Amino acid sequence: MKIAVIGTGYVGLVSGTCFAETGNQVTCVDIDKAKVEKLSSGQITIYEPGLEKLFERNLKEGRLKFTTSLEEGIEGAQIIFLALPTPPGEDGSADLKYILGVAADLGKLLKPDDFKVIVDKSTVPVGTAEKVRNTILKTFNDLNPHPSSLNEFEACFEIISNPEFLREGAAVEDFMKPDRVVIGTNSERARKIMEQLYLPFVQEESSLIFMDEKSAELTKYAANTFLATKISFMNEMAQLCERLGANIDMIKSGLASDPRIGRFFLNAGLGYGGSCLPKDVRALAKSAADSAYDFKILNAVIEVNRLQKQFFIDKISSYYKGDLKGRHFAIWGLAFKPNTDDIREAPALEVIDYLLKNGASVCAFDPEAMDNVKKMYGDRIGFALSQYDALKDADALVICTEWIEFRTPDFDRIGSLLNEKVVFDGRNLYEIIFMKTIAFHYECIGRTILQ
Ligand code: NAD
Repeated sequence: MKIAVIGTGYVGLVSGTCFAETGNQVTCVDIDKAKVEKLSSGQITIYEPGLEKLFERNLKEGRLKFTTSLEEGIEGAQIIFLALPTPPGEDGSADLKYILGVAADLGKLLKPDDFKVIVDKSTVPVGTAEKVRNTILKTFNDLNPHPSSLNEFEACFEIISNPEFLREGAAVEDFMKPDRVVIGTNSERARKIMEQLYLPFVQEESSLIFMDEKSAELTKYAANTFLATKISFMNEMAQLCERLGANIDMIKSGLASDPRIGRFFLNAGLGYGGSCLPKDVRALAKSAADSAYDFKILNAVIEVNRLQKQFFIDKISSYYKGDLKGRHFAIWGLAFKPNTDDIREAPALEVIDYLLKNGASVCAFDPEAMDNVKKMYGDRIGFALSQYDALKDADALVICTEWIEFRTPDFDRIGSLLNEKVVFDGRNLYEIIFMKTIAFHYECIGRTILQ
């Protein structure tokens, strides 16, 4: 099949590459000229485990192409995926300007004799497919104001919803072997085309879940807000553990073994971040408010997440009795989670901002995300070549992302490099008893420190 993917970011590049991997002819379109040039010349633009190999292979074999021209990208394509950003607007709602902008352009380019399925892969509020449809029709109608040609034009495309559930850091695996593929459409023709596209990816046909487009749009928000709720629940539980003298790790083990609860998204820590959960929770809460429904749980989830980052920052501040001026901190981990270079709404950035604002200095290390942070902070913070380099002359180590290489470090080396043996661990990586044995001052989340 010939496929166009509009928007070549985390979702677009992974989807485009994986569709090419199963033999489809894929053209990825992006307005970012530098990105398209880089990708066309064989340089990958994001870090995602396993992606580079697939990208190189499909580029070499001519199944994967990149362009800045929407017209060239959709030429001959049976399916057009929209993998465009939906950032939060000022009021928290999803900003649809990128999607509707491309929809308007499609209204100028689609041809009545060339049927195409337009698939919304971005995370969008309920009713967006309808808005995309109306925008395409309006643009066409403005250019061709004859009712008969509009009827003919209307039949040349279907808008469907196919939200993406991939996890950054495991995106290729998730895309190649999805738990489920949700497809929202009432069109039999579009359904058959999507079945043909996705059957090579799913283990069982039942993993292709068809529904109406509004339910598909809402399913994506339901998934992300449910996961955010799990995290916030555990963060509140961690707060209670500290007050009652219990240990959140034990609570997690007790919960994770219950199949009704499941073992994922039960880690207490610095709160959720990233490009999806924060904006999607806010967008659904806003959609609910606009529908005159006060979604109480979601509003609490947002507040708990905000307070959780402050809770960790307060631990650092109270250790130094509120005086951080002149202190120097080593930060391990900048990405919002391990195995990605994505720093959108990463909790580490909030910690760094607080430290800088209060007169401290920072030297950071992250295996993949330092280039992205450098673009934001320039020389306001230092960047280390290794996790140990970051520790030189630091008063304390602050852990913000649970990269695997931080899990069993050389504590003698850490102790000898730091000015004082102090670790603030926002990800609960080490055993508290062990840290006490090796005489570190160790602060973590929701685990009582034995005296
Ligand atoms: P991104 O910001 O990484 O990528 C979006 C790309 O679209 C950018 O490269 C940008 O240059 C390009 N773009 C903007 N306007 C364009 C236009 N008019 N024409 C062509 N390209 C244009 O975003 P992302 O993380 O890939 O997310 C895309 C959507 O998918 C969002 O709605 C997001 O919520 C959703 N989503 C993201 C993830 C994730 O893990 N990142 C997972 C599931 C769903």
